[in-house]
Amino acid sequence: LRAADGTIGTTIFAEMSGLAAGTGAINLGQGFPDEDGPAVVLDAAMRAIADGVNQYAPGRGFPDLLAAIAEHQHRFYGLRLDPERDIVATAGATEALAATLLALLDGPDDEVVVFEPYYDAYAAAVALAGARLVPVPLRWPDFQPDLDRLAAAVTDRTRVILVNDPHNPTGAVFTPDVRRRIVELAEQHDAIIVTDEVYEHLVFDAPHVPIATLPGAWERTVSISSAGKTFSVTGWKIGWVSGPAPLISAILTVKQYLTYVNGSPFQPAVATGLRLPDAFFQGIATALREKRDILGRGLSAAGFDVSTPSGTYFTVADAAPLGATDAADFCRALPERAGVVGIPLTAFASPENRAEYATLVRFAACKRVDVLDEASRRLSLLG
Ligand code: PMP
Ligand code: GLN
Repeated sequence: LRAADGTIGTTIFAEMSGLAAGTGAINLGQGFPDEDGPAVVLDAAMRAIADGVNQYAPGRGFPDLLAAIAEHQHRFYGLRLDPERDIVATAGATEALAATLLALLDGPDDEVVVFEPYYDAYAAAVALAGARLVPVPLRWPDFQPDLDRLAAAVTDRTRVILVNDPHNPTGAVFTPDVRRRIVELAEQHDAIIVTDEVYEHLVFDAPHVPIATLPGAWERTVSISSAGKTFSVTGWKIGWVSGPAPLISAILTVKQYLTYVNGSPFQPAVATGLRLPDAFFQGIATALREKRDILGRGLSAAGFDVSTPSGTYFTVADAAPLGATDAADFCRALPERAGVVGIPLTAFASPENRAEYATLVRFAACKRVDVLDEASRRLSLLG
């Protein structure tokens, strides 16, 4: 049993949020906002419940949600999706990832090239599919992959190149060269690109570029996103997967047996959110950028070396200047020492590569400004 042999253990998020709850520390570990999303979106969910949208949704999702997803991808990226064939709504990006990897992978001869550190659900889903993970390192402080290492990792055994852009846990946004090279390598080796873009609207410097929009990419790319981050509703677990109809159809086949369907009254609410004016989407990126800067200044003042993320909820800080030699030990002690929780980057790496990230810690900036100020004050007493 993979769950019993240690291949798949308790997620770091459960461990660290438990530590935060147990100690009363400020939780800059698990990435979730501490303020609700837009009132029109919340109201739409309450209205849907009151209006009786409480039974099973259709297998792909309600047609109006699928239409809203297609409209959103056309408005922001110029993509033209067929809502009835190219999209499936899922129980968050997590189920989209699991259904996609289970649909596409076929045992130990299939390899998945993944950028390390990686979101922990990736390794678990690849393990459940019985396939092999081939990590390509992203290195401090810019966390862009070395293109030669990437090219060496992709071979004819590669079934999937698993992309996460903007990237959790590093906050990196891939450069145009990296994106182009991924598509070239996928074409050369006939691999499928699976791209997790849940932070698509949380980018700080330039508009997000989905890899599916690159020349040659669409026909071999499965794109995954979710409402959780964009609308500050991480507990709703409404996600979606989009791409060419034959791939999406295989993924739907698997999804039926994972959850069948999910989140009926939240689906119309997410459709409302996806149709909000551009100003909403610009506003969330601007607000988060300010929070990133507040957290970054606080961490620097406390003595960390700090990387500057281009997107996502997260900032990576090096605790070596504070005397840390092992980020996991440092993070387990941090609630007692400073009343703050962070996540060691080693939790996002394969055991054999953890040394690369030994002293790095991920902190979440998606909190109220007064909470970030208080966390900064507490961390300043670490020294
Ligand atoms: N992918 C990444 C990169 C994430 O950070 C998260 C966490 N929110 C997920 C997937 C899971 O998303 P959801 O909550 O929609 O399942
Ligand atoms: N995506 C969030 C994070 O990276 C939460 C993940 C989770 O709780 N599974 O912190």
